[in-house]
Amino acid sequence: MSFQPRRIGSFWEASVADLVRDPQLEGDQQAEVAIVGGGYAGLSAALRLALQGIRVVVLEAEHVGWGASGRNGGFCCYGGTKKSGQELARAYGLDEARSYVRYQCEAMDTVETRLDDWGADVDRHSKGEVILAHRPSDYLAFADEIDWTNRTFGLKHSLLRPEELKEQGLGGAEFHGGYRVHEGFALNPMKYVLALAEQARKAGAAIHGQSRTSRLQREGGGWRLETDRGSVRAKKVILAGNGYRDENLPAWLYGRTLPVMSSILVTRPMSDDELAAQGWTSDLMAADSRILLHYFRLLPDRRFLFGTRGGLVETPAALERMSRKGRADFERMFPAWAGVETQYSWYGHVCLSWNLTPYVGAVPECEGIYTAMAWHGSGIAMASLSGEKVADLALGRISASDIPGVMRTPFRRFPVPPFRLAYLQMAYWWYGLKDRI
Ligand SMILES: Cc1cc2nc3c(=O)[nH]c(=O)nc-3n(C[C@H](O)[C@H](O)[C@H](O)COP(=O)(O)OP(=O)(O)OC[C@H]3O[C@@H](n4cnc5c(N)ncnc54)[C@H](O)[C@@H]3O)c2cc1C
Repeated sequence: MSFQPRRIGSFWEASVADLVRDPQLEGDQQAEVAIVGGGYAGLSAALRLALQGIRVVVLEAEHVGWGASGRNGGFCCYGGTKKSGQELARAYGLDEARSYVRYQCEAMDTVETRLDDWGADVDRHSKGEVILAHRPSDYLAFADEIDWTNRTFGLKHSLLRPEELKEQGLGGAEFHGGYRVHEGFALNPMKYVLALAEQARKAGAAIHGQSRTSRLQREGGGWRLETDRGSVRAKKVILAGNGYRDENLPAWLYGRTLPVMSSILVTRPMSDDELAAQGWTSDLMAADSRILLHYFRLLPDRRFLFGTRGGLVETPAALERMSRKGRADFERMFPAWAGVETQYSWYGHVCLSWNLTPYVGAVPECEGIYTAMAWHGSGIAMASLSGEKVADLALGRISASDIPGVMRTPFRRFPVPPFRLAYLQMAYWWYGLKDRI
């Protein structure tokens, strides 16, 4: 059955000719692997499996790219965890921290290679990114931090002195120097997820929109996934719902991840004079050094995209407050653009885990079910590669030890899960305070 895709009013929706309406699942179907979630992780798994001739069905609650994959900032960059390199090295050892960095680089390369191979135009720009110190003490700390990172991981991050920022077209009111990261690039996330779905379909994956999996039951040697109008019986299941997943699907996952909001505004296109007035003319993607960070970039058509983290609940009043705060931060950091209107604003869910690391592997106590989730707000690259890896795990083509140790620990349950929002509230308060002092 055909349906009207739900829209969220994002710039990315407006930038594509249309959203895809894959048919709803009807009746009973069989597959070798069923995948829940039509974002980068689920579709990457589907593509990987379909290319090997495996019968795979993707069940998506809304439409391809409805979740974070169609709403994000488009920074294809390092990430996946909220732990720093030094924290990872302390927790997992140097070798595992190195293996995680190599994985992130492979993940960025995976996206780049796919786009090149497919000849997909997703408005790529920005060679690497820049991290900007939002206070002088952060800039002073950068020198030691990048020296350790470069020595330990063989990278080439480089310092940007405060006086270099304006010269490089990176002018803002709160920037006190920064550092350049040379890996990564920016893209239009919706164009990427639509291209990925197209490749998966071409390879033979069956994708169903408006097909929320509401039940997951053991049946025979496999699993039965039920939706409103149909069901799929599959030997293996991959759960890729991330910040949009249903808490109890399956019961083992209850209370083990936490959806957190991030919001974005996009201005109207700006003139040369307007860009020069603020001194921001670079096409580099950028973020500041706050824990509750801002991320921003000049889009190819000279609109400015500005993203913030935060927000606890999705009531209209709370969403309005989040959007007002985002706009106030934007005007404070880029005062010359205080009169430049916002044309699009929206928000979405990112997904955190108690360990602050992702998990790619088998779901304990649920033989045949696998998951790849919790990218901590940086999943374009990580969910893309991990979708492939979880597909390989489900088929037994790789084993758990082929996944970096940082991503191999099954999610711990948050202590007293119903209080997760209260923890988040306290974390926001504490991080907000740390960012200010
Ligand atoms: C505002 C915002 C900005 C971001 N910026 C960046 C960025 O610049 N760079 C970056 O790397 N990352 C960014 N992220 C994070 C990134 O978008 C995500 O990590 C990534 O898209 C996750 O992909 P995924 O496939 O795991 O999950 P999603 O893309 O969230 O897909 C999950 C899908 O599962 C579906 N689903 C859930 N439950 C069910 C069910 N029961 N049945 C059927 N379907 C179901 C949902 O409808 C959804 O479409 C941002 C996220 C947000 C919200």
